[in-house]
Amino acid sequence: MSLLDHFDFHAQTALPGLPFDALHADIRNRAREHDLPVVVDTAEEIQIETVYGNYSFQRQATETIAVIGASRADWLFTLKDSLSDTIAQLVPDVAAAIRWSDAQEQAGKLPPNFQFITIRAVTRVPGHFLRVEAEAEDLSHFTTDAIHFRLALPDPNLAHPEWPYLSESGQTIWPKGDASLHRPVYTVREMDAASGRLVFDIFEHEGGRATEWARTVTPGTRVGLTGPGGGGIPEAKALRIYADETGFPAVARILETLDTDARGQVILELTDPVSGDYPLPEHTGLTVERRAAGGDDLGDLAIAGLAAAPDHMVWLAAEKTAAQKLRAHFKSAGLNARDHYVSAYWTRPAPAEDHA
Ligand SMILES: Cc1cc2nc3c(=O)[nH]c(=O)nc-3n(C[C@H](O)[C@H](O)[C@H](O)COP(=O)(O)OP(=O)(O)OC[C@H]3O[C@@H](n4cnc5c(N)ncnc54)[C@H](O)[C@@H]3O)c2cc1C
Repeated sequence: MSLLDHFDFHAQTALPGLPFDALHADIRNRAREHDLPVVVDTAEEIQIETVYGNYSFQRQATETIAVIGASRADWLFTLKDSLSDTIAQLVPDVAAAIRWSDAQEQAGKLPPNFQFITIRAVTRVPGHFLRVEAEAEDLSHFTTDAIHFRLALPDPNLAHPEWPYLSESGQTIWPKGDASLHRPVYTVREMDAASGRLVFDIFEHEGGRATEWARTVTPGTRVGLTGPGGGGIPEAKALRIYADETGFPAVARILETLDTDARGQVILELTDPVSGDYPLPEHTGLTVERRAAGGDDLGDLAIAGLAAAPDHMVWLAAEKTAAQKLRAHFKSAGLNARDHYVSAYWTRPAPAEDHA
């Protein structure tokens, strides 16, 4: 299958010094690992299908050519970024030599998955959340399969913030030093693709830069957004959901979107005693339990929940330690992590070392 005939958007790059035979088996293994269909596998080419488009690796005399095809410009960009990351892990020198065929025409422009949003209002939501309402340029790519994004927040004291741009070789160049952007991940709580209305809820925690930003930002301020990123509404009919406050907006989306015949349990951990007041839609098939933090963490609870209801999908969004514990359990119990959703939504800082 020729990618050029099949997709509207294409890019290609040579992978200098990387012979096709050195890459072929590795690409096949990675496709198997990520459950991606291999649609062409010959001595001259291996082609992989993904939800964003296809990758083709083709034999040349001394090197390999990577060709990418996608039906949308932002998906092409996502595939390019992800290929650069993969090659950087395998052979860093080759990654540095990547030169995308469309790089010159894009050079200096904003990355295709970046847009500006204009803040319209910030209000309080019960449970120590700040609700940010903004106007986005383009929400057409935000679906129930992709509900998260990154903000790109400059230092509010900067008179002239800097934004990312594409380099001559097609890589995203992010501002550095004083101009660097804070890029925390958030969840779309409400949106309207037609008007561009975007609403997200920030859990207020002391020392949080996004918390501080939302407390002081004024209507009309423009900041950056990249995404949407992976992670969406689960399709399971039986599920157990575990989340601390950072996951509450996603849990709200899940409860209002799940099919009516879904069933299961939601366990919410309250690291802040008032966060239990965060408004959640009701779903007749799922019970909601709120527990104060301090006992078993959400990782332990999810492991116990799996033992009690092995046919349920587990959806966990919590601090990194809980997520790591659950992932380690999947591994040791021989369970397929891909049947579940386990994500570290934040990381507690390591305790300061005692130098006394
Ligand atoms: C897919 C995904 C979706 C997310 N959706 C949301 C969402 O909708 N709403 C939301 O509020 N968060 C959400 N988060 C979590 C959010 O990205 C993190 O909490 C992030 O660190 C917040 O950035 P900050 O600027 O507030 O904190 P930073 O300035 O980056 O960090 C400052 C300090 O705060 C600590 N910290 C971070 N989060 C917490 C917390 N919850 N409690 C206590 N201390 C904390 C850090 O350890 C650090 O020491 C999501 C994360 C992911 C991965």
